[in-house]
Amino acid sequence: MQNSRREFIRNSMLLSGGTGLNISSVLNETYFPNKMGDRLVLLGTQGGPFIRSYKQTPSANLIVYKDIPFVIDTGYGATFKLKEAGINLATLKYIFITHLHTDHYLDLGPLLYNAWISGLSEQIHVYAPAGVKSLIKAFWKSNQYDINTRIKDEGRTDIRKLITTHEIKEGVLIKNPDVEISALRNIHPPIDNSYAFRFKLGKKTIVFSGDTAYFPSLATFSTGADYLVHEVMYVPAVDDIAKRRPNASKLIASIKSHHTSAEDVGKIAQAASIKNLILNHFVPPDDKSLTDQKWFDAIKNTFSGNIIIGKDLLQFEI
Ligand SMILES: [Zn+2]
Ligand SMILES: [Zn+2]
Repeated sequence: MQNSRREFIRNSMLLSGGTGLNISSVLNETYFPNKMGDRLVLLGTQGGPFIRSYKQTPSANLIVYKDIPFVIDTGYGATFKLKEAGINLATLKYIFITHLHTDHYLDLGPLLYNAWISGLSEQIHVYAPAGVKSLIKAFWKSNQYDINTRIKDEGRTDIRKLITTHEIKEGVLIKNPDVEISALRNIHPPIDNSYAFRFKLGKKTIVFSGDTAYFPSLATFSTGADYLVHEVMYVPAVDDIAKRRPNASKLIASIKSHHTSAEDVGKIAQAASIKNLILNHFVPPDDKSLTDQKWFDAIKNTFSGNIIIGKDLLQFEI
């Protein structure tokens, strides 16, 4: 990939609160897989499980650091997006799930399966809230005919022996000389086990909010981070969602209870002195009136740093 082009994309996506850069230049550059170096890649930026198009799929992110891929959430579509981001699925080692809402894990089983069928020979460690062990076990059971057939017929190693599942609590999950990865319980009623994640990678820090209501402790957790990837909700547009989803009578109250308004996302980022605020998990995801400019305007009054309107397959050098 040409460096100059990469630089252009990177710079064009950084909307400084003070400069009022032309957002149309951002919209034209939403689909840009690059396959080199240490990087953060947004794989899926849509909020919620409702599928509209491949261009924006549910939550998933990727960090590649020292050639090791770290996957953060595996919403539907994550497997294909990882392939588009240039990842050999057989090289996967670490998967982190923020919480057990399907828009954050529905592709977990298929991703593990596809890693296996791609030639997986070493362990994949899955870090996720309580419940993930039974979830994966049920996936193996529902696919046991195929798995057992391929073990016998193709001589494959049993996939069930290649996956190690860690049911997480708040605190440090992994610490070695290269990386320190921590979880902080966020605010996602009625789900108790929902987490933000912080990745310290050498001198760089990347934090993912997960799904959360306004969560001031996240500012402490993410202080000084190079990238804060934060979910976001545009409150004036949320009530209209009910008209488009007539089969969920309590949906609006539910959405408001565990998501953060754009203004409050800005407050968190400002309090934490974040260098680059990346918005993802947009709620609502299917309101065409919500342009990038609108999201940007909703945040610029509470945050003075760089604001990036997240897009699937957009990536950042780390
Ligand atoms: Zn979600
Ligand atoms: Zn959720």
